[in-house]
Amino acid sequence: MNTQDTGANELDAVSPLDMNIRAPSYFVLQTGHHCAACKQSTPVFALAVPPGHESTEADIELDEDSANTMGLDPDAFHDWLFSPVQWLKVSGPALISQTGLLSESVAQTLQGLAPAFRPDPASHGQWTNFCEHCGKAVWEGLLYPTVGQPFCPKDDIAAARINVHTVNAPFAAFYGMCWSDSYRNKWPLFKRLGVECSEAD
Ligand SMILES: [Zn+2]
Repeated sequence: MNTQDTGANELDAVSPLDMNIRAPSYFVLQTGHHCAACKQSTPVFALAVPPGHESTEADIELDEDSANTMGLDPDAFHDWLFSPVQWLKVSGPALISQTGLLSESVAQTLQGLAPAFRPDPASHGQWTNFCEHCGKAVWEGLLYPTVGQPFCPKDDIAAARINVHTVNAPFAAFYGMCWSDSYRNKWPLFKRLGVECSEAD
């Protein structure tokens, strides 16, 4: 199935320029976590996108700080600023982290599906889980990176504890980083999403 051209056009309408990842559908993941602050179990949520999602080229990333310190030539900056966004199709799934922005429709869906997951004013508005008991923010470093953490299950049994809600609606976000299928320790999670990962040929 090749939807390379039509998929991109449909998504243009829902992908504002300040977004760097988009997809025709997405996953809202939910599982439990023992809050480090109050030790009680609280629901935590995460976002993932299926194979065939699109992201912009990461290596043209430029922020105000680096523009100032590098003394970027104004013409080069102008070219970069007004160049068309390059969307690249990604063949694998991705678990999204350090989410700075979500499109309006995704944010609205999350209000209903994932009320504990919302922008944290103390962290530049980054989308963050909050403990339902003590209200403290849950650091993503306790949820994603290491095998055995809530969104890094070690096997199928652990992955089965993650509730997967598929949303068949367009997704767009600005994210800081994501775990792709190049991270083998995310394969059990991706299998839970219905994506079998294997060694590249
Ligand atoms: Zn707590």
